[in-house]
Amino acid sequence: MPSSFQAPKRGDKAKETTHSQSLISNTAQENATVRKLIDHKGRSVFSITPDDTLSTAVKVLADKHIGALLVTDADGALVGILSERDIVRKLAATPGQTLPQTVAENMTKNVQTCSLDDQLVDVLKTMTDGRFRHIPVLEDGKLCGMLTIGDVVNYRLLELEYEAMQLKQMIVG
Ligand code: AMP
Repeated sequence: MPSSFQAPKRGDKAKETTHSQSLISNTAQENATVRKLIDHKGRSVFSITPDDTLSTAVKVLADKHIGALLVTDADGALVGILSERDIVRKLAATPGQTLPQTVAENMTKNVQTCSLDDQLVDVLKTMTDGRFRHIPVLEDGKLCGMLTIGDVVNYRLLELEYEAMQLKQMIVG
């Protein structure tokens, strides 16, 4: 038996696993919430009213470099969402007659939302399952932001890079 060898004592193993597991569970626990992303991205939302025309919607989408608009009523309540996909579909269905149509006629009324304390992984699942790329964020029932699937995926990639760096540092010492 080499002189440096020391028979393991009770509790040694527990200490070792606690160290590595704490890193893994810390990162897993840190599965970010919507709040973290919204704090980083900001709370601005671009909205339009149901009576606006698609012509107006197209201008706003182009000016703001965005892919969807929230539709709100006179009280600011969320009543729908209109994405570039809705407009493209209608352009194909009603060529030459699309732009004068109203937002109300073309929006999706049953809007799925998320809240600040939702986990990003859950939001990502909602978006992939529902096949849409935009999700409004509500706080106490009021609009407080908008996330795109790109925002969520990019954030998750950053997190994964950070986790990989932490693991590398742990190995290198
Ligand atoms: P998108 O992929 O976001 O451009 O949207 C694809 C389709 O889903 C369009 O018909 C949108 O109106 C609709 N949509 C977009 N976001 C949502 C949402 N959060 N909830 C329900 N429908 C949505």
